Amino acid sequence: LGPTVCVGEILVEIMATTAGDGFLEPLDLIGPFPSGAPAIFIDQCARMGGSAAMIGAVGADDFGRVNTARLARDGADISGIAVDPDYPTGSAFVRYRLDGSRDFVFNIARSAAARFGWTPKVQALIERSGHLHVMGSALAMPSAWSVIEKAAGIIKGRGGSVSLDPNLRKELRYDAETEDRFARLVAMSDLLLPSGPELERAAGVEGEAAAIARLLGMGVSEIVMKRGAKGATCFLVDGTRTDAPAFVVDEVDPTGAGDCFGGAYVACRRLGMGPVEALTYASAAGARNVTVRGPMEGAGTRAELDAFIANTPRRI
Ligand code: ADP
Repeated sequence: LGPTVCVGEILVEIMATTAGDGFLEPLDLIGPFPSGAPAIFIDQCARMGGSAAMIGAVGADDFGRVNTARLARDGADISGIAVDPDYPTGSAFVRYRLDGSRDFVFNIARSAAARFGWTPKVQALIERSGHLHVMGSALAMPSAWSVIEKAAGIIKGRGGSVSLDPNLRKELRYDAETEDRFARLVAMSDLLLPSGPELERAAGVEGEAAAIARLLGMGVSEIVMKRGAKGATCFLVDGTRTDAPAFVVDEVDPTGAGDCFGGAYVACRRLGMGPVEALTYASAAGARNVTVRGPMEGAGTRAELDAFIANTPRRI
């Protein structure tokens, strides 16, 4: 039916090489790494062998080229990425705290990432796409939302499907309008990929079992709950539940795990694999990515994930 498309922010990430809690002093940094949750998702989807396309914008600068070159190298269709002559590529600075949480400084709102819209190229891409994946972080951006809303209608109209990773972020403001967009997208989604409190937030009820029942009863046919180092669980509308134990790895940089997990899961399902096999590849993609510094540096090809699966123990 056509590629999996993702609409949203394309960023570079620059990270501090040491964790700390104190006032930010000049310190050693690495990067720029290609980043932005939607871009990480699409990169992993493409690396897995799925047909994948990105919609968004970068500036006419080296930060933009870092992204477009990587996505193109990994096999993603970049025809839907606009190059904005007036605004720079978005960026994120991240420093880990000693407890493993992260502090970000984002430059998104005044960057190319927040300024793209519907173009003839986007129209052409959407008209031949079979699946739309949405990262919740994009819902707080009016320009991304207007593209997502239109794209979802067209793709659903041609028999395609929609997935949503709520990806709620403490740095983003969730006003009533964003909440409304979130609810509308949940209602349109075939597949949900929540983690932590996002499941109950999407369902609007408390308790995992009640939330799963509510969502599966309102048209979502598949829910994959991500649980970090504790693994993941897939719930299907027919009542089946599959638990995927996590692979045992040394976590170096958790950023991007959920995005790689989702990219691999959606790619595998759309390549025709069942949920259990998709869950194994997705768990491998998430785990492999946390062993490498940089948000998408550990995204794996199918061959790399096969080798990772063969050589990495799993928690029982
Ligand atoms: P999100 O970033 O969306 O919260 P998670 O942190 O739950 O997502 O990561 C997604 C998936 O990646 C997990 O369900 C798990 O399969 C894998 N994963 C993430 N962190 C680790 C880890 N430290 N060890 C092993 N697997 C991990």
